[in-house]
Amino acid sequence: MSDCTSKRIRYDDAMSESYRQLLEATIQHVEGLKARGVRHLAIAPETLRALAAAAPRTAVPPPELLGGRREAALTEKSEIGNRKSERNSSLLASAATNTSSPALAAPLSAEAKISAFAALRERALACVKCPHLASSRKNVVFGVGSIDAQLMFVGEAPGADEDAQGEPFVGAAGQLLTKIIQATGLSRDDVYIANILKCRPDMPAGSSGNRKPTPDEMATCIPYLHEQIDLIRPKVIVALGATAVEGLLGKTVGITKLRGHWQTYRGTPLMPTYHPAYLLRNQSLHEKRNVWEDMLAVMEKLGMPISEKQRNFFLKA
Ligand code: URA
Repeated sequence: MSDCTSKRIRYDDAMSESYRQLLEATIQHVEGLKARGVRHLAIAPETLRALAAAAPRTAVPPPELLGGRREAALTEKSEIGNRKSERNSSLLASAATNTSSPALAAPLSAEAKISAFAALRERALACVKCPHLASSRKNVVFGVGSIDAQLMFVGEAPGADEDAQGEPFVGAAGQLLTKIIQATGLSRDDVYIANILKCRPDMPAGSSGNRKPTPDEMATCIPYLHEQIDLIRPKVIVALGATAVEGLLGKTVGITKLRGHWQTYRGTPLMPTYHPAYLLRNQSLHEKRNVWEDMLAVMEKLGMPISEKQRNFFLKA
């Protein structure tokens, strides 16, 4: 085999890798649905178009194969990266908004549900679809709480504390979320808590803080969350912050505009609210009350009892 031919094969392999990962995630998701009794899937035309557009049929040969310079190769690479991100954002959005069929799946028996959830957890814990995250993480942060929860909270991604402990929302923002949950009269054990991303977004060596998951990372990881939601079948989902809304609904509208307004995730009422980390940064009574009003709306939707005291939380200092 000539050097040129083997370079081309390596390049084509790299081009098809991201598509292969997306396809694998889709197949896993569909297999999960099938295992849970779904026999028909309604797929919107735009979803099919997005999948077709993502197929690596028209891979552009790298400039070195065409005799191009290194700069040209770098430009090409970053354009390919951008196109990949655009494709993944549109896949994320169409997958979030168009897969209405899981609601048709018959509920599983308690036993089958436990084993399907355990199998899903095993798959997620062994996931290496994002090699950079698989190698930087300490733990896969799958989720915590009751798999029969009526209320589910979805955040963005694990931070350093969550990565270390393997549990979502255990750091400072998590402690605030726990207080919010307790203020409704529930405990962390009564609800289910998960994130859009199951691995901590990697950070450059020596730097602290967190970064927002990329569209590629979100598109790769979201099938696990979809399956968790399909199995749990919560009555209400609370999306904590803009990334959770984007991951679940494909909407990039600002969280300030969306919070407090009911949305629907595949037939399930979804309340967008501020991420608790935002409340830690902005301690105003007004914003605390805003989040609390969102929680009151959630409690009402779930038919939970609300005391006068609860109704008046954060009304005055
Ligand atoms: N922020 C999140 O979005 N998720 C966590 O698990 C922790 C902090």
